[in-house]
Amino acid sequence: MREAGLEVARDEAGNLFGRRGDARVLTGSHLDSVPNGGRFDGALGVVAGIEAADRLRETPLAVVAFRAEETGPMGSRRLEELPEAFVELHIEQGPVLERLGEPLGIVTGVIGQARGTVTFEGQAAHAGTTPMEERADALVEAARFVLHVRESARDGARATVGALEIEPGATNVVPERVTVSVDARAPTAESLDALIESIGFEPTWRLDPVAMSGPPLAALRAVLPGAPELVSGAGHDAMVLAAAGVPTGMLFVRSLNGGVSHCPDELSSAEDISLAMDALTETIARVSESDTAGV
Ligand SMILES: [Zn+2]
Repeated sequence: MREAGLEVARDEAGNLFGRRGDARVLTGSHLDSVPNGGRFDGALGVVAGIEAADRLRETPLAVVAFRAEETGPMGSRRLEELPEAFVELHIEQGPVLERLGEPLGIVTGVIGQARGTVTFEGQAAHAGTTPMEERADALVEAARFVLHVRESARDGARATVGALEIEPGATNVVPERVTVSVDARAPTAESLDALIESIGFEPTWRLDPVAMSGPPLAALRAVLPGAPELVSGAGHDAMVLAAAGVPTGMLFVRSLNGGVSHCPDELSSAEDISLAMDALTETIARVSESDTAGV
């Protein structure tokens, strides 16, 4: 950061900043990773921010390495002062851009999420002596529900049953009670509502989708005309800032190897990263010049 002409400081939450002048635009990502994670998730956005700062020597701006995006408590949730605009460069962590044959994508929003459980009640009975037609098997009902959950997810929505609790959970007893977890995700608040209703469960936890907006999104669209636009299925620091009301833009770089992430096979090419660097630099330059930042 110092070599790029930035003044380095750390806040109470542990976020690391490199600043130059009266910075209105913030860029960056996180440096922490998951156990056995790859080299690009997060770190690329920090390195790219520093490189952009190095290229834009005359532009007031700030670069951040957010604390603990993966593990929490997320540093991006504890900013002492919100920037006027935020731009994050990040790997896609999915296969969409690779399948489209496109190096870069513009994120329009981050998918919303709801979680809850559904419980099925039956009657415990002897597996050998209870005739098939006289059973109230909670697991058979739950199995139908699992298929229903899967079929409910359409148009970019995702719905997953990842955990089952079966009682009494014995090989020779017809299941009496089954609790099924539901994880439902959709790109807009309306589509998340519709998905929850279609599945038929009461969420115990919900995070509404957030939209990218304002000068950062407009600048990305101007710099990359015709680039594919994507909704991120994963949460990011950009999601936190956008939810806090900061006009935010997010640039995705193609993930190779089928889009794998959170594992050592995570990969983006030097050519794609170079294109992303040019786009990020141009985007920051435009946003810092726009007089609508913060509106
Ligand atoms: Zn990340």
